[in-house]
Amino acid sequence: MKNTNQKKFQIIFQKCNTAICILFNNKNGLSFILKSIIVLSIHLSIFSTFPIHANEKLKIVVTTTDLKYLAEQIGGEKVEVESMIRGFDDPHFVMTRPDFLLKLNRANVFCMIGLDLEIGWVPLLLEQSRNSLIQKGQNGYCDASIGINILGKPTVAVDRSMGDLHIYGNPHYWLDPVNMIQMGFNILNNLSLVDPENESYYKSNFVKFRSRMTELLKSEMRKMQPYFGIKVAVFHQEFVYLAERFKFNSNLSIEERPGIPPSSRYLENVIKTMNAQGIKIILISPVNNPKYAEYVASKVNGAKILVMPTSVGALPEAKTYEDCIQIMLQRIRDASE
Ligand SMILES: [Zn+2]
Repeated sequence: MKNTNQKKFQIIFQKCNTAICILFNNKNGLSFILKSIIVLSIHLSIFSTFPIHANEKLKIVVTTTDLKYLAEQIGGEKVEVESMIRGFDDPHFVMTRPDFLLKLNRANVFCMIGLDLEIGWVPLLLEQSRNSLIQKGQNGYCDASIGINILGKPTVAVDRSMGDLHIYGNPHYWLDPVNMIQMGFNILNNLSLVDPENESYYKSNFVKFRSRMTELLKSEMRKMQPYFGIKVAVFHQEFVYLAERFKFNSNLSIEERPGIPPSSRYLENVIKTMNAQGIKIILISPVNNPKYAEYVASKVNGAKILVMPTSVGALPEAKTYEDCIQIMLQRIRDASE
């Protein structure tokens, strides 16, 4: 339940926001987004972060829908979780909105995928949030990648300014249910630190979630067994964790390197490899531009492009994390028949 002071703050802020926006509209031609960020920064510098009150839900802000789903499983009825992006947005490239700042300012816990996935948009938002509780090293700061065995670490020096998107290793680790358990454990730690009174509740939810992931893993592994070792091509290297866990090979990518579009010569090599090795499946996600995959598929006899729900909500039918894993693996099996 919000206390009286919070309500007062909100009313004052709404008036302050409107007044300053009108002032900017009349005085100069700053863009709406810039104006809003300035307004929010003024607001956030005036009002400090809100404390947690008894019976009030913890406010968790996360970057992706997979983290939202996970935080809801661990936090249950004690939390309200907001994801900054939707399941069909590209987490590598996000247009930040002014309301992100307000959400971060009010958050008790912030959680992100980490590595370099959100590096282009999260650090500045955190800095401008004026919320000391969710800064790196604080109890409300959760980097879900802690403890994950990261795949695809570059063997040569790469630089994001050169267009490479996976400079610290592959950040798409949530597509392995084992990693999802570790991510849940990380969130559990943060919730327990921020809200120790409900630690046993969060732990009990985590144990249930871990059991569900274990069951998912067992049943999907059984179904995949006849398909162990199959080779697929991908557009972006985002299926390596899924492939490593369920024993298929997704090493051939249509992108020349993560985030780097293919040259004509590189595309011809991909086509040659697919034809030579009998690779007929191309995996893409809804955020990928399909034109390269379509070109490659047109040159490989019998090739199929599979659009995969790589995040909760990436496709309408992928409503839960379990849906995502089951749908992706089912599509691969169906296309392999
Ligand atoms: Zn990526």
